[in-house]
Amino acid sequence: MSTPATSAAPAAPAAAPKAPSSPFMNGNVIDGKAVAAKIREETAAKVAELKAKFGKVPGLAVVIVGERKDSQTYVRMKKKACEEVGIASFGADLPDTATQDEVLAVVAGFNANPDVHGILVQLPLPKHIDEQAVLGAISVEKDVDGFQPLNIGRLAMKGREPLFTPCTPLGCMVLLERCGIPIKGKRAVVVGRSNIVGMPAALLLNKRDATVTVVHSATPKAEAEAICLQADIIIAAAGQAQLVRGSWVKPGAAVIDVGTNPIDDKTKASGYRLVGDAHFEECKAVAGAITPVPGGVGPMTIAILIRNTADSGERFITGAVKVSGAGRQRKGLAKLIPTREQLASPLPLLAAAVGVAAGAVLQRATAGRR
Ligand code: NAP
Repeated sequence: MSTPATSAAPAAPAAAPKAPSSPFMNGNVIDGKAVAAKIREETAAKVAELKAKFGKVPGLAVVIVGERKDSQTYVRMKKKACEEVGIASFGADLPDTATQDEVLAVVAGFNANPDVHGILVQLPLPKHIDEQAVLGAISVEKDVDGFQPLNIGRLAMKGREPLFTPCTPLGCMVLLERCGIPIKGKRAVVVGRSNIVGMPAALLLNKRDATVTVVHSATPKAEAEAICLQADIIIAAAGQAQLVRGSWVKPGAAVIDVGTNPIDDKTKASGYRLVGDAHFEECKAVAGAITPVPGGVGPMTIAILIRNTADSGERFITGAVKVSGAGRQRKGLAKLIPTREQLASPLPLLAAAVGVAAGAVLQRATAGRR
């Protein structure tokens, strides 16, 4: 005989948001070192394959100007990472007193060197050197940092793909993807809008069909908090220690913390420790996934740099792009960038612009007939 139910079963407690399961996560903490190690392993395999098939390996040239200790450490780490995966590393170590023309001449040399497939100028440059002029002189086909306006422009445009994407923001995206965190249709907030992290991160999220909001230094803090609280994904890149608090994070959201900020810590021999732009303990208690600092985004930056270099090497070695005599092949969209000579004498530039406009009109006129 069955007993009639006397009351409805009590409602189950609201399930805690489920952390995505991934071999790259410990609980809800993303292991950036493990993802980076996997990327390096994949890159090493690609380099070995190119060597076996074509007898050539990708090459990365790193240009450093001055004696900044932190820059020298980063350059050493980049060269070591190259060696570990079989990428040939080239370098130019210029003194603080180097002139802009000397730096430009070094870049031009690497542009023309067929064994170099990626060129990176370590920033910051000494104050007397125009950073934009130097970065702009790197061949678009060798711009492994992805900072060339043409590469950024293509990242921003629908239906276009850049040859290279900036390493740190792409590293953030790879962490999300490898950890199985959905992006398409999700709300994402990027805290910060710098040219090297925040802005390209927002463009990448947009390209992957997230609905993106950017907050910056002029966003009132309470508003930034309210906006972040709506987000499924937060990328924190403000350079402000522990700006993003637990109260900013929607339960189950992913927090990708790019920040690396030294704060005083008397328990450390160095007297300081690094913290992110998110308050790790508070955010970890609420987030579905979070990157630690250090050990989250940091290791990804170099891993993506060597992957970008290997991809570039593959393009050159297989003949998908070629080094012209001047080291800079001006084809496709690159043709639209005025050369220094064109800027000095606007007439050819005008002619080129008229030619491009005429081409566009002709293309539109013939589009329906194809
Ligand atoms: P940045 O050039 O100083 O830019 C900081 C951005 O954050 C700016 O857009 C700024 O807004 C915004 N911002 C500043 N205060 C803010 C606030 N209170 N609320 C919201 N936005 C704020 O720094 P970055 O080069 O992008 O780097 C950001 C952080 O990432 C730094 O800690 C840096 O060390 C770290 N980083 C790490 C790696 C890595 O590999 N792990 C690589 C690169 C950078 P405005 O535009 O209005 O000034």
